[in-house]
Amino acid sequence: MMEPTSRNRFAYRVTAQEVRFVADTATPKYAFFGGEIVPFDQAKVSVMTHAFNYGTGVFEGIRGYWNGEAETTYIVKLREHFLRFLKNCKMMHITVPYSVDELMDVSVQLVEMQDMRGDVYLRPIAYKSSETIGVSMEGVADALTIFASTFGNYVDIDRGLSVCVSSWRRTEDNAIPARAKVTGNYVNSALAKNEAVVNGYDEAIVLNPQGFVAEASAANIFIVRGRTLITPGFSDDILEGLTRDIVTQLAKDELGLETRERSIARSELYYADEIFFAGTGVQIASVTSVDHRNIGNGEVGPITGALQRLYFDAVKGRNPKYMEWLTPVKSHALAGSETLAAS
Ligand code: PMP
Repeated sequence: MMEPTSRNRFAYRVTAQEVRFVADTATPKYAFFGGEIVPFDQAKVSVMTHAFNYGTGVFEGIRGYWNGEAETTYIVKLREHFLRFLKNCKMMHITVPYSVDELMDVSVQLVEMQDMRGDVYLRPIAYKSSETIGVSMEGVADALTIFASTFGNYVDIDRGLSVCVSSWRRTEDNAIPARAKVTGNYVNSALAKNEAVVNGYDEAIVLNPQGFVAEASAANIFIVRGRTLITPGFSDDILEGLTRDIVTQLAKDELGLETRERSIARSELYYADEIFFAGTGVQIASVTSVDHRNIGNGEVGPITGALQRLYFDAVKGRNPKYMEWLTPVKSHALAGSETLAAS
């Protein structure tokens, strides 16, 4: 139920029963904002900001995993995230005056300063920042912010998910490109996810305008048939996911399984032996039912389970073969964090 808050009859809050699975997110301590690292509560934008009004922001979601034995946070595919980010900024005519290396350095600094000794989530957003009315992006200024937060599991990965095929279609490439990771496009994700949750499902599978499987609301999808992994290709209105790359490589190198990129028809979902989602947020999440039809025998499948274990070993820095995916942030750097913050 929504109830008016006591102080303002136009402000509403949601009661606890309505929140089904919300990842544990703590308020960040700092943000990179206006070209410097500032206390988080100073990172504020005006309600007139172009991106706030029109969704003209490009963002990333990046995880870092805390490895207690190594006293190190391992940030996953940091360089690749910023390479994608800058490509997407170019698509949106957003200028970011920093190189990939500089963006990585700021991110590492934020993780050091946040002093979490736990898993971390980095959220860079480059956005159209002018306070102006009108959708044109010509002459509109750009800005960049990055903050680091805690972030628990986005979906429950300890059991299989019950999902539906959404009644909402993925935005097509000639409307709002899914690959762009642009804030405005997440209206599409929000509608699909919300519909799924209010109907009692954990997640949604979204079809593209041609009726083929695109992805989940915020993750890529794989189906397993026999010993082959199948995932939609880049022309199926998907985000070019980095976890998708990780899965493909782990499947090949560690399990000897090939991944085929091709369109997947809706009814093929019900035929699959296993289905799982892959994304920075969801990590590797098993799907055990689609539209009330069990996938396989309705339990987490052996290939999904194996990939989940391989994934966590790799991203937590427990498999030396995949250390090149990780940017280590040693916790001894934490000692200097307050000095840095004060300067
Ligand atoms: N698709 C969408 C729509 C997403 O939001 C995400 C999460 N970034 C993904 C796929 C997975 O991408 P990645 O593995 O790079 O996080």
